[in-house]
Parts: sequence; structure tokens; C-alpha cells
Amino acid sequence: MALLEVKNLDKYFGGIHATDNVSFEINKNEIVGLIGPNGAGKSTIMHLLIGLYKPTNGIIKFNGEEIQHLSIHKRIKKGIAVMFQHSRPLSRQTVLENIELSLLEDKFQFFYKKGIKEQAIQIAKKLGLELVYNKRPSELAFGIIRRMELAKAIALNPKLLLLDEPFAGLSHLEVEEFSKLIRSLTKENFSIIIVDHNVKAVKDLVDKIIAIHAGKIISTGTPEEVISNKEVKRVFLGE
Ligand code: ADP
Ligand code: MG
Repeated sequence: MALLEVKNLDKYFGGIHATDNVSFEINKNEIVGLIGPNGAGKSTIMHLLIGLYKPTNGIIKFNGEEIQHLSIHKRIKKGIAVMFQHSRPLSRQTVLENIELSLLEDKFQFFYKKGIKEQAIQIAKKLGLELVYNKRPSELAFGIIRRMELAKAIALNPKLLLLDEPFAGLSHLEVEEFSKLIRSLTKENFSIIIVDHNVKAVKDLVDKIIAIHAGKIISTGTPEEVISNKEVKRVFLGE
């Protein structure tokens, strides 16, 4: 059974058909690229999966159970976490406190609090944040805040991690570092959907690519298959 099953998903914003009869599956531990030009509907799909938007039509199954009617909070509990394209970190809290709050969100029981700091430190280390534990977001470079956002998503202990445009706004060097970080996560025990407007940014990281345009899936397959697809070439390269 697939971890995530999306069937005939539709989302309208007034007259805009932002998600148009979208169906796909994500398997356990699979790393998938969701690509499409700006305005294709990538973020809308992310928001539908986490529950920020309710679909106009369609079914979302997670571990075999329909979740499209569930709140964000319940979906997080079931194991879906997002790193949003436009994040708003908690500005009064330090890096470690930000991560601790995510850990508490997952556990949601105060008697777990004892080991929380140690767990936060472990996650922060894994993401190369050891020099900034006690800094607040306003003191940090954009690329470091992005790492903290990733740490917070991982602290939710997801089975499915959604990364919406993780490379946006990063310098060349930061993109390389962040790719490495994501690659190191692909060995962990969860599935990942990486959203990007650029096929090249994700093709070496993923098992499978889903390409969308104007809300519709235009191609699905291995990176090689999708990159050589005629429709994808036309949409992405104007060929
Ligand atoms: P992408 O992430 O691929 O750039 P989006 O999912 O953000 O694309 O947007 C897809 C389409 O839906 C666009 O036409 C966008 O303007 C529209 N859209 C997205 N969110 C909203 C919203 N909350 N209200 C109205 N229109 C929206
Ligand atoms: Mg987007």
C-alpha cells in the first residue's frame, strides 16, 4: 500500500482551477520531485496535503485512511510535516527553542519535556546549526533560518516531509549545501516531496518526478523519463 494516495484532487479559487484532477501516489521512503513553472499549482497541492486548504473535490489517503477532512493538527499527528515556501519562524524564540516547540507539538505531553532539549540539540547538530543554538531568527542569515525551518519540520517526526521550494532565495553555495543536507535525509525513514520550479534542481535527489502545468499532471516517471517528455520540454524550455 502506498503511504500517500491522492485521487482526482481538485481545487478552485473562484474561477481559477489551481489543482485540476490530480492523482498520484507516494510510496514509503520514496523521494519525489514535484515540479512545475511558477503558478503551476505546486504550493496549492502542498497546502491541500497538510490541510491549510480543503479540496473542492477528491480524496487524500494517508496510510490507507482518508484525511482530506482532517485539521492541520491532526495531519501533523499522523505524520505529515511541511517546510513552507514562505515561513514565519517564531522570532522571540532561539533556534533550540523553535526546535523544542516542534518536538513538543509531536509529543504533546509535558512529561516528555525532560529529554526535549537533548533531542533538539541532536536535530540541530544533524542540520549543522551547532553554532547558532541560542540565536534568534533576526540574528541569522536567510540560509540558516531555512535550515532551522527544516529542523522544525523534522522535529515533528514525519512519515512524509513536504519541502516547498527549499532552494528559493539561497545563494549558489547555500543551494549546494542544502542539497547535501536533503540528500543526507533521504537515508532516514520517511518519504519526501521536494517542490521546485526547476527540474535540474531536484533531478539528482529524487526517485521519481511529477511534473505539473496549469494545475494538471503532464508527466510522471523517473527523472530521465520526465526530462525527455515532449510536453515537459515545451513547458519548461519552450521547445
Ligand atoms: P506554484 O506554487 O506552482 O507557483 P500556486 O499553487 O501558488 O503555484 O498557485 C497556483 C494558482 O492558484 C495561481 O494561479 C495562483 O494565483 C492561484 N492561487 C494560489 N493560492 C491562491 C489563493 N489563496 N487565492 C486565490 N488564488 C490562489
Ligand atoms: Mg509555490
